[in-house]
Amino acid sequence: MQGCHSSSPRKDLKMDLIYRYDPYAPVTPRQIPTTEAAVNHLLEGNSRFIQFVRQMQKHTLDPSLKDPIVMPISPVAMGLPLFEGAVLTQAPFAVVLGCSDARVPTEQIFDQSFNDLFVLRIAGNVLGSECLGSLHYAVKALGESLKVVVVMGHSKCGAVTAAVDTYLSPEGYADIAYTFPLRTLVDQIQIAVRGAARALDQYSPIFQHNPELHRSFLVAVTSYINSSITALELQRELKLRVKNPPQVKFGIYDFDSLRVQALPLESGAAPQLRNAPTSPEELSQYSSEVVEALFNLPDEERDSCRLTMKL
Ligand SMILES: [Zn+2]
Repeated sequence: MQGCHSSSPRKDLKMDLIYRYDPYAPVTPRQIPTTEAAVNHLLEGNSRFIQFVRQMQKHTLDPSLKDPIVMPISPVAMGLPLFEGAVLTQAPFAVVLGCSDARVPTEQIFDQSFNDLFVLRIAGNVLGSECLGSLHYAVKALGESLKVVVVMGHSKCGAVTAAVDTYLSPEGYADIAYTFPLRTLVDQIQIAVRGAARALDQYSPIFQHNPELHRSFLVAVTSYINSSITALELQRELKLRVKNPPQVKFGIYDFDSLRVQALPLESGAAPQLRNAPTSPEELSQYSSEVVEALFNLPDEERDSCRLTMKL
């Protein structure tokens, strides 16, 4: 058993996080036979992550809470070798393509462990040839255990914000154009920015005298559309090249709710992932749904999508 103490502004506030291993507890091997089971496993993991962070925040705010936060672990369930020299066979149940943003660690957000996820991370979660090569490797070599492919963007994404700023202020494009790799990244996200701008068109009177609000909403909506476009491209690519390809799902990680979601959701809603769109019509319909869901949120929750931190 081991524990660690969090730092706190109050010296008398200590919180124990205990990872508890019971060698006599029954070990259930991971059973993920279908896409649905894989998605549920990921979403349940995200719910556990949210619960853990909320519990920790509660303890931080209320020093009278003394009970430790106990997390049962099993080396087998964690995918760790039980003795020296043992090397596990690689057997992830999901591929996750996410952003490189340091605030979005894939395994933690889905509360998964060693050997669970095959992770690809690239700024803005866009598709490049090396990225596709890794994905093809995973699908072909690890196809037996692999049940789903997930594209996970996130809110307040720096790459998405750069693409939005390029769209809003084309004069700033010179700096980006000068650096080819950066330009490639921003160019790939441009189409999602245009989709978001179009979907937000009907609300243009709201933004008329508030360009900063328009920028924030563009970033928020583009994050969803960018993930859905990557998912669409990925699904199409896999269908062209792989027999019985895995289903591609997508969503974004939202910093405020800590939830993975495919639409802006009210607080307390369950995490969700969505199937990749299969046509331009579906993509366009999805963009409208994102904007509608955003404007259906209570005012204070919708406002949380504004850019409140330096990106
Ligand atoms: Zn990002």
